[in-house]
Amino acid sequence: MSGEVLDTGALISWSINQMNGCVVTPSQREEILKIAPEREVVINTSNLIWKMPDEESLARASKFAVDTGDMAGLSKVDLELLALSIQENKKLITDDYRLQNLAEKAGINWGSISTKGISKLWEWELKCLACKKEYPTPEVPNKRKSDWGECVDCGSSLKLKRKK
Ligand SMILES: [Zn+2]
Repeated sequence: MSGEVLDTGALISWSINQMNGCVVTPSQREEILKIAPEREVVINTSNLIWKMPDEESLARASKFAVDTGDMAGLSKVDLELLALSIQENKKLITDDYRLQNLAEKAGINWGSISTKGISKLWEWELKCLACKKEYPTPEVPNKRKSDWGECVDCGSSLKLKRKK
């Protein structure tokens, strides 16, 4: 088994052998150095393929994410991984429910690192918790995952919620 696109969770928990031949993006190196610097040697030892998705794949991934409303919760790395899976036509390995949800909707095979994965698809809504006003989900990845700005009507913080 090899050749999957790996999210950073897999880079942290998979063995050298499991990671051989798998595809990752250069942006993940920064994440690893920040979150799990002790993994650097393992990652450098395994035969990973470091690759940036091309602009066309990034544009396709962005379009999927905007269409499904998932873009709001995605990081730059998440978006690159989705784009890589599209570009390389490879399975995406992630435990991030949002990425799994998006891969499912984009028709990309995905697998989980250690959990069972989602049992059903999720949808997201950006909403004011105070007055319940709904907002369109943002169209760019969010740098700070929890900061969605304020409600124009009442000034309360907006929250990204899973649609029931
Ligand atoms: Zn409000």
